[in-house]
Amino acid sequence: MRQRLVNERKNKEILLTADARNDSPGHCAQYCTYTITDMEDKVILQQDVVDVREVEGRKSTNMERVGFERGMDAILSTEIIAKEVITDGHTGIASLMSHCEKYADIVHQRDVWHGGKNIGKKVANVAKEKGDEDLLQWSGAVKNHFWYCSRLCNGNVNDFKDLWRGILHHVVNEHEWPIDDGKSAGKCGHDPLSDEEREKPWLEKNSKVHKALQKIVLSKRFLNTFLYFTNFRYVGYKLRNQLAVIDFNSHRNRQPCKNAAGEIVHRGQYSKRTKQWRPVTVLQPKDYGYIPTLIVKIFEEQLKTGNVNRKIVRGADDPRNIAANIAVMPRPSIEHLVQVHKSRF
Ligand SMILES: [Zn+2]
Repeated sequence: MRQRLVNERKNKEILLTADARNDSPGHCAQYCTYTITDMEDKVILQQDVVDVREVEGRKSTNMERVGFERGMDAILSTEIIAKEVITDGHTGIASLMSHCEKYADIVHQRDVWHGGKNIGKKVANVAKEKGDEDLLQWSGAVKNHFWYCSRLCNGNVNDFKDLWRGILHHVVNEHEWPIDDGKSAGKCGHDPLSDEEREKPWLEKNSKVHKALQKIVLSKRFLNTFLYFTNFRYVGYKLRNQLAVIDFNSHRNRQPCKNAAGEIVHRGQYSKRTKQWRPVTVLQPKDYGYIPTLIVKIFEEQLKTGNVNRKIVRGADDPRNIAANIAVMPRPSIEHLVQVHKSRF
């Protein structure tokens, strides 16, 4: 299957996304699965598993870089032309991409979703300091503004920076401002503010808290990373994570299973960290009750764009084009199956 996917992309310029998933969180992970995907078709082209024993210092944090390099080298050994690769903000990968000769022809972009999330977090962290608490209510806006700039800059890093600096004006209730000593003007991209929006707790220009935000927004080190964010693309990653959150939240009140005697059912779970077995309560199976609501919401949103009947075409690489199910032989009649099943007992 992989060979077919590679052949189909022979001599074609492909945009890749690359991401890692560990078998368990943080520093105790033993395996890291590194996946490289064709971004346009959402087809997985390469997957490698790294064992922590294979990496420097047997440190799980080093697995991601090794997985990336292994996967990219496998792609480079094919006739696919890797034009661009999008990763999260992992510094080991950024340094590989900028220093290794073999990757010189590949543009490295970072996942904008990660970038926005990180800057929002930075603002929220500073807001923990005394006197800077007012920043907290702006962390979401800063994050959104980052995505907005990335989408609007059309690949131009200077436009990205100009747009980005606008947030420092917006937070002090200044929505138009002179730039280049008054030779031209900057302007917010939003519609005129409603009365309610005007009531926002604006920051005071050049106050301590405004200066704290300036420091984050204008940080040289941060501005230098913009190069990696100029090609805005929504990676499916975000959607998958949102779905995981919806699923988790919808099922968080599941009740324990009980046996016929009315006792709570447990199973044993081994912890790699404590090297002990412990009992875990078995919960009622998930009911996925949120899915009909979700479908209704999707239809409602689609109605707004007038596109409810739009047919989503199945991708050329969809495995359903190969077969309707995973069986290696055609399905016999149901009557036949029931008959055979009965006669066995
Ligand atoms: Zn504004």
